[in-house]
Amino acid sequence: MAPAFVEHADRSALVLAAQTGDPAAIESLLAACQPDARRYAWRHCQASDVDDAVQESLMVIARKVRALKAAAAFSAWLFTVIRRECLKLQRAMFRHEPLDDDIAERQLASRSDGALRLDLVHAFESLPAHYREVVPAARFRGTHHRRDRRAARRARQRRQEPPAPRPLAGARIPARLIRRCTRPHDPFARHRAAGSRLRWKRHASREPGKSWTPRNRLCRAAGVAPGRGKEKRHEVREAWGRAKNHRAAGVAPGRGKEKRHEVREAWGRAKNHRAAGVAPGRGKEKRHEVREAWGSATPPGATIAPAMTDTLTITRPDDWHLHVRDGAALEAVVPHSARQFGRALIMPNLRPPVTTAAQAVAYRDRIRAAVPEGTDFEPVMSLYLTDRLPPEEIALAAEAGVRALKLYPAGATTNSDAGVTDIRHTYKTLEAMQKHGLLLLVHGEVTDPAIDLFDREAVFVDRVMIPLRRDFPELKVVFEHLTTKEGAHYVRDAGRFTAATITAHHLLYNRNAIFTGGIRPHYYCLPVLKRETHRVALVEAATSGSDRFFLGTDSAPHPAHLKEHALGCAGCYTALTAIELYAEAFDNANALDKLEGFASFHGPDFYDLPRHTGTITLKRESWTVPETVPYGDATLKPLRGGETMNWKLS
Ligand SMILES: [Zn+2]
Repeated sequence: MAPAFVEHADRSALVLAAQTGDPAAIESLLAACQPDARRYAWRHCQASDVDDAVQESLMVIARKVRALKAAAAFSAWLFTVIRRECLKLQRAMFRHEPLDDDIAERQLASRSDGALRLDLVHAFESLPAHYREVVPAARFRGTHHRRDRRAARRARQRRQEPPAPRPLAGARIPARLIRRCTRPHDPFARHRAAGSRLRWKRHASREPGKSWTPRNRLCRAAGVAPGRGKEKRHEVREAWGRAKNHRAAGVAPGRGKEKRHEVREAWGRAKNHRAAGVAPGRGKEKRHEVREAWGSATPPGATIAPAMTDTLTITRPDDWHLHVRDGAALEAVVPHSARQFGRALIMPNLRPPVTTAAQAVAYRDRIRAAVPEGTDFEPVMSLYLTDRLPPEEIALAAEAGVRALKLYPAGATTNSDAGVTDIRHTYKTLEAMQKHGLLLLVHGEVTDPAIDLFDREAVFVDRVMIPLRRDFPELKVVFEHLTTKEGAHYVRDAGRFTAATITAHHLLYNRNAIFTGGIRPHYYCLPVLKRETHRVALVEAATSGSDRFFLGTDSAPHPAHLKEHALGCAGCYTALTAIELYAEAFDNANALDKLEGFASFHGPDFYDLPRHTGTITLKRESWTVPETVPYGDATLKPLRGGETMNWKLS
């Protein structure tokens, strides 16, 4: 880790020097941040734009570095600038007007098939990778139409052609161009196949008796005897129209005014009935029934009325970050979580930490034994990642039902002395985790004493998360107890393999809470509460509806006397009132409709576990949280103890 430390300290010094306007310092700063800029541009730009994006960004950096408020925020700022430049370049690229049909046709006519095919391949290669993935392969081949597919197959058979090139996938390229490129264009192929002379092509293609003529195909499909003439055409049209409607409406075929009426009616009725979930039928009664069903049906995604909600029923939630300790303490706190949640991801920072599958299984048994009779609560286990955790242990852990490993930078928080000194030491273990589908949960703070306590999460993103994501792109990572705007934005933009938990106290409080009227140790936790701007960013993330943010209380019990101590322990005890606290935070943001996704859906989805089927109900009701609860031989002071809550779990 040493080189990274030195680099970062140097970087801050460089930024400060550059801010004085010294040209030499600016130049070395640009040189120093160029590799980072390039790496980031590779992820956000298409290949041909990387150089431009880097150059543009460095110019912005040189121009505006003096306006930057904190040197420690430089990396985050650099990445923001680059992302913006990449977006700009991307927009410029897609602003081309599509070609006029006539011009396209003329250009097509003047180029050979080989040249067109090459153009097409180049066009695809120039697309950003995610665009190439999005467009269905068939689109490229031009064979999304069954007719095209058949024609292409026949043409290949006739000419003994090699099959069409493997599709690359691409953007909106006219189907005509694609077909022209992947299959030799021969407008008279049909006529030739029919054995007619081109001069008589029109006539020949309509010759009756040739099974391939369009008309006969239609007759067959409509179930009408083959023939020609106006009458026949009329008959086919009618048969088609009728049959299609009748089939779809579930009405016996027939013709005439009556039948038409019947079909129309069936359509109207059936559509409404189906949508309303009412058995089909007719008459005033039925209409009334449908109307009623419609009124009472709840539109999807809106289990909560938008205005003032006093009762809130949501799917049983889970807590994806929980400390329950061991022994008597465990017995005291597990019932609190079991009452609120269906599952909880149990943190492994015991003394000694849980580092083997066998220890995890034994710990799980102790937790299960503390769950009150008749309560449905399942602990989800994790192991404590250390520099020396053998990769072989991962297979055993996966087999034992362990779902994740927790990464604590050494010394970051309670009982984390055994943590990881350098993430690179754990790469073998991480490889095994990626293979077995185990998640990596990170305590996202560097422990470098040179970094201000309040900046440690932002620096962690730069030093650990970005390289980690690059080296293990498909390892699922949960950024635990997110506390900053930088962290929230990083997770938001990091792709589908990165998610984050957010605690209730970080949604409700900023750092003022620790110092209001004197020092308040029960609001002290790690990562520590941050400025109001960060709290607002977290609320925004949690209530955004994004499935990459979910509930994790980080409820961490400590005996009251050790929190109210000269060297007070870090951790807030929120398990007693967790879901009520979250409801309050979402209610304050006027986003109660987003609570269920955050609390009950996004977590299990990310962990590949089933969502619960049961529900819980919250009521808007004032009540006072007990000041203390028993905790083995000591007492435990829950967050908000002695204060009023607005929501109550029934
Ligand atoms: Zn924790």
